[in-house]
Amino acid sequence: MVYNVKILFTLCKFLSNTSLFLMDWIMADDILYLLDGKGALQGVQLSVSLWREVESLVKPKLKKKEMFVEQEEGPLRDFETFMKYWDFPYPYSPQVTCPHCGASTDDWRKEGGKNFILTNANLGGLLVFHCLACGTTIRHKHFRDHVSHEHTVFVKK
Ligand SMILES: [Zn+2]
Repeated sequence: MVYNVKILFTLCKFLSNTSLFLMDWIMADDILYLLDGKGALQGVQLSVSLWREVESLVKPKLKKKEMFVEQEEGPLRDFETFMKYWDFPYPYSPQVTCPHCGASTDDWRKEGGKNFILTNANLGGLLVFHCLACGTTIRHKHFRDHVSHEHTVFVKK
């Protein structure tokens, strides 16, 4: 259930800060807030005229947020530590498949044709990958006798 609430909003604050800044409960024809049943903000809808004004400011931020996920060193180091202490009775499999878009690799560590980025790894056996094709989060949970695969589809906020 989505309720529509119109709220005046300091757009400049939003664009420069990314945190939402709700000013007042009055009618503002250019911005529509979409709240869920608990009152939590789920989306913001702009009028076409306002969108045309701010599009050039917003788009680079969206693109940066959605597309440019880079492999960071921290998770790779944590993965190496995980491998160092690997004591499960089965060999590690570097194969990753995205259940959402079908992207797949035999070995996510390979340089060429990299489809996935390791975003988190820990000694408890959890490896988290980001699918570069569609943004889905893929989790490989390593247990003593099996690996559990889970995923969360990327939803634009
Ligand atoms: Zn995918």
